[in-house]
Amino acid sequence: MKEKIHPNYNTSLATCQCGETFETGSVKKQLRVELCSKCHPFYTGKQKFAEIGGRVDRFKKKYGLAETK
Ligand SMILES: [Zn+2]
Repeated sequence: MKEKIHPNYNTSLATCQCGETFETGSVKKQLRVELCSKCHPFYTGKQKFAEIGGRVDRFKKKYGLAETK
């Protein structure tokens, strides 16, 4: 009867922008995420620039260049 405790909390399918899908608990039936454990630079190590992201961010703030896209 444990399922009855949270009637609105279902297992839903989350879709990452990299195409990876995984199940997660949510009140929504479908979720879209920008990063998952498969493509997050912290896990993949593919995007080396992410390592210096903090430094770049501080640099941008210091010189008022935070608005870059
Ligand atoms: Zn992903």
